[in-house]
Amino acid sequence: MSALEEIAAIAGEAVLWRRDLHRRPELLYALDETSAFVAGKLGAFGLDEVVTGVGGCGVVGVLRGRPGNRAVALRADMDALPIEEITGAPWASQTPGTMHACGHDGHTATLLAAARHLAADRDFTGTVVFVFQPAEEGGAGARAMIEDGLFQRFPVDEIYGIHNLPGLPVGRFAVRPGAIMASTDRFYIDILGRGGHAARPHETIDPILVGAQMVTALQSIVARNTDPLASGVVSVTTFHAGNTDNVIPQTARLSGTVRALDEKVRADLEASVGRIATAVASTFGAEARVAYERGYPVTVNHVAPAGRVGDVVEGLFGSKAINRTGAPLMAAEDFSYYLERVPGAYFFMGNGPSAGLHHPAYDFADDAIAPGAAVWAALAKASLAAAT
Ligand SMILES: [Zn+2]
Ligand SMILES: [Zn+2]
Repeated sequence: MSALEEIAAIAGEAVLWRRDLHRRPELLYALDETSAFVAGKLGAFGLDEVVTGVGGCGVVGVLRGRPGNRAVALRADMDALPIEEITGAPWASQTPGTMHACGHDGHTATLLAAARHLAADRDFTGTVVFVFQPAEEGGAGARAMIEDGLFQRFPVDEIYGIHNLPGLPVGRFAVRPGAIMASTDRFYIDILGRGGHAARPHETIDPILVGAQMVTALQSIVARNTDPLASGVVSVTTFHAGNTDNVIPQTARLSGTVRALDEKVRADLEASVGRIATAVASTFGAEARVAYERGYPVTVNHVAPAGRVGDVVEGLFGSKAINRTGAPLMAAEDFSYYLERVPGAYFFMGNGPSAGLHHPAYDFADDAIAPGAAVWAALAKASLAAAT
């Protein structure tokens, strides 16, 4: 049997794993059942090492081929989202208010299928490290695994990550060198004015008026301070002030999100939010207290690994199956933390015409498991065989 035929045979069972995981979604770092499932499978496949509890409940599997110096890490995320599922699928979530709405059940099953194939095959030189991480959805599980010594305990030359992408046909892939996912930061602005009677505004400093000016002025950052050829988002997403119609409140609170595809742009956006909020408030005699929280960094693909992804997909499925200059997304990924330390690439595989990621009607496309696992296996071998 060819590798593709072997993987197709495994994928039938992997669909059952995927649906099993889908029925029992778990959040963030509370992945007891999911990580036990993954560790059990890796052990049954005959991996050389299966280590649990890395970065909380992350699982690492080590598979050695012929003796060699190179090692490559393949990563899947395992966590679900606090969303009430409406798919009505027979394998729908059995946990109210929790569902796999980002396809991490599919990512886990796809990487398990690749692990099973590679463990049976072992036709490679070097070491494959399978990384199953917790808490991609806002919990920085990648960083937790790194801080728990992931790369010291399991040194690798390259790392790769796959995410499914609704709208891209099943069996197709997209990658790009450079930034592929955005940074994501939050800000909170407390506006301290002076409250009073709504009929005596001249005795007050109206924080609602200040906040309204601030929302408008913050929109000038991307429009007037950011290079039109760069990308940035500054969105004010909450504005809270006041309780009744005849009182000008004492304070107002804004919050929002900032996204960028470049760390320099990100730093400029951060500085601009603080400068504009402070200056607008002082223009009106109010005060602004700005809290800016940095979230996931920009996910920046390294050039050679991104090219390797393209070559591997093209070799398996032809040039039509790969878009080597896919558009970046302004969503964020904690895979960025790995790429800050180790060369590698993050890429997309098609999920077909499904609902969007994080939508209650979303479901992972089971037909994506076979091509995804085939790419994983071939990519591991290509990375291990690379000269540099
Ligand atoms: Zn997600
Ligand atoms: Zn996701």
